[in-house]
Amino acid sequence: MSKILVIEDEEAIRENILELLEAEEFEATGAENGLAGVQIARTIRPDLIICDVMMPDLDGFGVLMALRQDPVTATIPFIFLTAKAEKADLRQAMELGADDYLTKPCTPEEILKAIAARLERQRAITQPYTLALRQAAERLNHLVHYDSVTNLPNRLLLRERFNQVISKRQDEHKSDSKTQENESPLASAQQPLNVQPVPLLFLGLDRFQRISDILGNQGSDRLIKLIVERITTCLSRQDTIARLNLDQFAIILATLSQRQTVASVAQAILSSLNEPFSLEDGQIFLTASIGITFYPNDGQDLDTLMKMTAAAMSYTQKLGGNHYQFYATDIKADYGEALVLEASLRRALEQSEFHVYYQPQVNLQTGEISGAEALVRWQHPTRGLVSPAEFIPMAEETGLIVPLGEWVLQTASAQTQKWRDAGFISFRVSVNLSGRQFSQADLSQRIVRVLETTGLNPDALELELTESILVQNASMAIATLNELKQLGIHIAIDDFGTGYASLSYLKQFPFDTLKIDRCFVQDVTSDTQNRAIMTAVIQLAHNLNLKVTAEGVETRAELAFLSQQHCDAMQGYLFSRPVPAAEFETLLSAGKRLPMQVV
Ligand code: C2E
Ligand code: CA
Ligand code: CA
Repeated sequence: MSKILVIEDEEAIRENILELLEAEEFEATGAENGLAGVQIARTIRPDLIICDVMMPDLDGFGVLMALRQDPVTATIPFIFLTAKAEKADLRQAMELGADDYLTKPCTPEEILKAIAARLERQRAITQPYTLALRQAAERLNHLVHYDSVTNLPNRLLLRERFNQVISKRQDEHKSDSKTQENESPLASAQQPLNVQPVPLLFLGLDRFQRISDILGNQGSDRLIKLIVERITTCLSRQDTIARLNLDQFAIILATLSQRQTVASVAQAILSSLNEPFSLEDGQIFLTASIGITFYPNDGQDLDTLMKMTAAAMSYTQKLGGNHYQFYATDIKADYGEALVLEASLRRALEQSEFHVYYQPQVNLQTGEISGAEALVRWQHPTRGLVSPAEFIPMAEETGLIVPLGEWVLQTASAQTQKWRDAGFISFRVSVNLSGRQFSQADLSQRIVRVLETTGLNPDALELELTESILVQNASMAIATLNELKQLGIHIAIDDFGTGYASLSYLKQFPFDTLKIDRCFVQDVTSDTQNRAIMTAVIQLAHNLNLKVTAEGVETRAELAFLSQQHCDAMQGYLFSRPVPAAEFETLLSAGKRLPMQVV
């Protein structure tokens, strides 16, 4: 039922209209002057307002102006009710933003027709928007649990499924032991919980990164889908396969327990992948490696099991791959590869092979550079520039990310202070923080030390954290973030949309900026789903008082869309790639900015 407010000082006219509206099943409210009308509109938020022009104190124009200035009432459809003699003033009314006018005296049909037309227009405006919001919410929810390329469950859903399988087996076990209980209650009470083992498989595609580099993102996604199809044919409907990252999957075999049968499933998967894959670019040959563990024999919880299963997988992969391997205790000692890598990363840090590059972040309101993201680069003596995508995960694994990340923070802070001293006083630097760094007990002391030695104001520093880091241990994360915020440091959520968390979940973490991942910015002009998501996320973020930075903006069309949606800042190749400090300084001094006609 639509709510209509009638503001009219002449009682007879007001009562007439109210009666008419009530007869038509509207929820009608009257106001006897302009001031009362504005008050009532703010409290009841009607769907439409009919308002007289000539009234003592606050006239109809004053009412309209007051309503349009208040965000709560700004968009309510507004129809003027005016005597013939006042018609000359109507141009002013329309300029103020009135939607329609009725000339007194008017017939009931005229009034109802004007109302129906306005309400219909309003519905047409708001409906696609609510639909887009709902779709976005559904999509965000889907992101929480599924991998976007293959539609397979991700780690989070894997955990839920794992718990379901375990509790089902425990129930089965209980009902089994109940039957025994009838025969001998004592015997069953002393039995340890001995459920049927649940097999967990960890599948890694051998040397897949190389194939993926050659095929590019799209080709590699297509290949992954074909791979998943083949694996799935070897599984039963009750089994779960989850995608963990680019080239790794976990599988729960929900109905099997015997080593022998599990081994034959693993072998069937490997054989199915040995047949070549036909893509447009030609035939692709690949192999995989599988590690296998059993709950509860090898581990009592999923995290422990995953580690062991992954170790078994790496073990067989190192021996050449295309094999499966049951977990055995001696595998634990096998970290040979990681040690070699750790040594070369450590050497790189000592020999200053790392450099910090800076990518401008641009304020979309002014078009000016407002800050930069610091991105580390490895200048390898023989391999050339190595991408962080390659060595950050390894540095994370070996723990070397801690000294490396701290070096980046130190270098970027010192550099930023130089630029601020040189006159770029509001310049802010964003530094990525890894999970390992974030979980250090003395993190804020370490950061304070860096700020003190470099003289950098905490307000000039933003730390970027990914959702997955926060979600791992939410209560600790909130405490740490609060500590950092108290220092005056800004916090950004990085790669928003690619992790497990929804925005409503993330609300509990105190952060200032939301960086929307490139995958949502991409093709935003042609991909309607991405457009709906971007629109909804920007809107939701602003409602939560967050600034939004769009990452990976490559085209003018993407930029135009973002400005139109009031996105706060952008970062991307369109403006500049990440560049060495000296080159960045040139951008700053030259005052490089976005051309304002696109902003
Ligand atoms: P990120 O934090 O999401 O950084 C943004 C990445 O997107 C950077 O890749 C950047 O070069 C790239 N990028 C920026 N604009 C565009 C664009 O328009 N198109 C495309 N295609 N890409 C764009 P980069 O430098 O290779 O860094 C990769 C990741 O490595 C970063 O992703 C971050 O997670 C990590 N990383 C880099 N430096 C550090 C660091 O100092 N510490 C930590 N912990 N992680 C770092
Ligand atoms: Ca980042
Ligand atoms: Ca990012």
